[in-house]
Amino acid sequence: MDHQLRRTKLSSRLPDLEVDALLVTRLPNVRYLTGFTGSNGQALITASGEGSVFLTDGRYTEQSRREVPDLRRETYLVDFPSMFAKACNDASVSRVGFEVGGITYKLWDQLSGTDGVTLVPVGEEIELLRWVKDADEIELLNGAQAVTDEAFDRIQTKLVEGISERDLALELEWAMRQAGAEGLSFDSIVAFGESAAEPHHHPSDRALRPGDVVKLDFGALYGGYHADMTRTIAFGEPPAELREIHDLVAAAQQAGISAVRAGVSGRDADGASRTVIADAGRGAAFSHSLGHGVGLEIHEGPTLRAASDDVLPVGAVVTVEPGVYVPGLGGVRIEDMVEVTEDGCRVIGTSTRELVVV
Ligand code: ZN
Ligand code: ZN
Repeated sequence: MDHQLRRTKLSSRLPDLEVDALLVTRLPNVRYLTGFTGSNGQALITASGEGSVFLTDGRYTEQSRREVPDLRRETYLVDFPSMFAKACNDASVSRVGFEVGGITYKLWDQLSGTDGVTLVPVGEEIELLRWVKDADEIELLNGAQAVTDEAFDRIQTKLVEGISERDLALELEWAMRQAGAEGLSFDSIVAFGESAAEPHHHPSDRALRPGDVVKLDFGALYGGYHADMTRTIAFGEPPAELREIHDLVAAAQQAGISAVRAGVSGRDADGASRTVIADAGRGAAFSHSLGHGVGLEIHEGPTLRAASDDVLPVGAVVTVEPGVYVPGLGGVRIEDMVEVTEDGCRVIGTSTRELVVV
């Protein structure tokens, strides 16, 4: 990972934001800029690059020595506000940006008292840089998805009559970890039969019965990067209406995938897919957005939804995940991550998008 290059890109943005430095406190952004994976760390990145520093507490002195070898590091023994004051003084910066989404009011209040420093609110500048994945990040996202595909293969042998949603979720975690996941991207969604009508169902004791659809939304965490995939399969022949809905959702997903390319807005990509479902008279049953960016966070930009002005750049990785949900009957969602290219996109996963009947 070229963390120095990322910091240089950020530094070059700072004059436009009219700040001498940016205090980075959101952990995914700290990781992106420094490589640090611990639970407490901050970075002060200056416009000139001079005086930039990584800050952490004593638990992480050794870990940061290893993970952040190319940036000056300081460990604070007392409290963060006094270390912040020292870092600003050492770097001779006075107008210092802070991340509006990465600081509590309490901390803002403490830092506001820093002598000689004016705090300036800064929006999602680093998140914007993170929209475009570099080659190292694409490799990790490919890896996360490969683990997820392998777990999907393995889980199909675990579908037996009577297994509960909760137990299948455990099997899914086991399969992902065995395939090389360092953790889960998020708590897996496992929904049988009528439970699949809830887009974000929490696994329960509901037992698997013949004719149930099985909706699985899950993903592996790999090298800090998240995978996100949904498949809806069937345990025995599903109700005819759900088979028909599966065909519809698959067509809507393909329309979404076909619409994704560099320069397209999130709104237009969402619309291309949503139209297919609306034309079939089921528009109201597609009750969420089409997709979201994925990377160091499971949900990041750009977003694909009706109100999104985000424009997709080459190198963004986004999900395409239409769904149709019918209360009392069940539901279908099909989700894949795609990498945006100049003239289209590459579907990252390899799992079939056809209806699998186990
Ligand atoms: Zn998902
Ligand atoms: Zn998703």
